[in-house]
Amino acid sequence: MSTNISSAPKKGFFEQFLLLELLKGMWLTLKYTFKPKVTVQYPLERESVHPNYRGILRVDESTCIACYLCEKICPDKCIHLEGERGYTKGKGGKYATYFYIDHARCLFCGLCEEVCPVDSIYHSNEYEAAVYNRADAVHDLRILDSGHNIVHYER
Ligand code: SF4
Ligand code: SF4
Repeated sequence: MSTNISSAPKKGFFEQFLLLELLKGMWLTLKYTFKPKVTVQYPLERESVHPNYRGILRVDESTCIACYLCEKICPDKCIHLEGERGYTKGKGGKYATYFYIDHARCLFCGLCEEVCPVDSIYHSNEYEAAVYNRADAVHDLRILDSGHNIVHYER
């Protein structure tokens, strides 16, 4: 469909001569120049997120009782674990022998966190989950327990 140029509103002589629209734009820029900044110099500066933010999942290995509830409720089947009975770290009972979460498939829906009877699995406030290959998005028990590496940049 062609645009009818003749239907565009015509500018008056003074508007054209004084470049009023340009001045309006410059006035707006000037107004915001002296207002407090709302942007941060990421990744040198990091904003803290809301306490309810659902970030990268973490699992507290010492409290997990390998009940499989999180694995069963996950709608995307991205949690896999195995557990066994025995003694480990000074306590008896059931514990996870392996546990991994594929963050590339995770919906960050929070169902696993909600269903856990011992608050072992939870969403952290970490949001830097970008990786170069899908395999690195799979976090095993060691990473889930202690957290993944975050590069801290300095000036
Ligand atoms: S947040 Fe949702 S999709 Fe992700 S692991 Fe938990 S239950 Fe599965
Ligand atoms: S629901 Fe909680 S206790 Fe049960 S296996 Fe998952 S993390 Fe462990």
